[in-house]
Amino acid sequence: MDSRKEEPALESGTGSFIPADSNESCAPGDDSQDIIRINRITKVFGNAPPLTAVDHVSFSVRRGEIFGLLGPNGAGKSTLIRILTTLMMPTSGTACVDRFDVGRDDERVRAIIGVCPQNSTLDVELTAYENLEFYGNLLNVDRDQLPARIWELLKMVNLSDRAHMPVRTFSGGMRRKLEIVRAFLHYPLILFLDEPTIGLDPEFRREVWQQVARLNTMNTTIILTTHYMDEAEKLCHRIAFMNQGRLVALDTPANLKKIIPTGELVEIGYGNGHYDPGVIPLIQAREAVLGVEVHEQLLRISAKNGSQALPGILDDLEQFGITARSITIRAPSLEDVFIYLTGTGLAGGRTE
Ligand code: ADP
Repeated sequence: MDSRKEEPALESGTGSFIPADSNESCAPGDDSQDIIRINRITKVFGNAPPLTAVDHVSFSVRRGEIFGLLGPNGAGKSTLIRILTTLMMPTSGTACVDRFDVGRDDERVRAIIGVCPQNSTLDVELTAYENLEFYGNLLNVDRDQLPARIWELLKMVNLSDRAHMPVRTFSGGMRRKLEIVRAFLHYPLILFLDEPTIGLDPEFRREVWQQVARLNTMNTTIILTTHYMDEAEKLCHRIAFMNQGRLVALDTPANLKKIIPTGELVEIGYGNGHYDPGVIPLIQAREAVLGVEVHEQLLRISAKNGSQALPGILDDLEQFGITARSITIRAPSLEDVFIYLTGTGLAGGRTE
């Protein structure tokens, strides 16, 4: 029996970290291609009743990849990131960040990671340069090299001409880019970005994506959490789906999409018009049709070949007096895969 399951729930930061597998280590000389190795990490908050935010999660992140943690609000993404970045103790489980044990070698872990948290920690009264300078000193970046490094990073995000302006005059996107390169001041091996584009408009989101991709080309492993599937799909080499604290799937975006056993999705909207559920068995009986769901005035039909199946489906709708107001045929998206695996969408529960 796994004794770890018997461990009492610990409140954040109040208990001692008991390594689950004390014989496992992140020993020097380990030449694994995996830069992060997580083994059954669990985090339980409170005890009345206890809430399992991260539930026996195990996976590895490869050196040099952009790795996405994708899931709806409350899935446990930020908690896992807080554990890996040494800001929070897990209730049980182990994690290696490069050659160092999280919980035992925290100072060394912190020296090789850069962290860009979800909530801004810039001092808006300081200038862009001063913000980077302050952080560089905190990170013990060599004082002689710091000015050159700051200018290099400001240039990288096109903020050199605003170097001496207070951050309060910056747009949300500029602040975000400044925070991302701030986490990069000490040439970290791994960069953690928690929801890097939350609240940004599409133009700035794209700029942040370019920035993340550019940092990745400098041999930096990037771990990002997001609930935007387009972001994960564009940026990430591999994606871990999380839901209710659990790891649901982990693979490349292309392979994740293969999980859905269908060719295409045909979506037919009927708006506020007439609808009769009697049409469902008729559509379902068609040979090319694999499944039918009704969701918010929309029939979502999975079919082997959408355009071939469509005329027959429209005949069925006509028989039941249902008028198609919109028709879309598309390949399954990551969101569809997530719904297929969990029964809920990525936006589920979000309140923004
Ligand atoms: P995500 O980043 O995927 O939105 P979080 O890791 O922030 O999810 O949260 C996972 C769950 O843990 C949520 O139910 C959240 O309310 C809870 N949680 C997070 N931090 C704390 C905390 N410090 N104390 C108690 N519960 C927390």
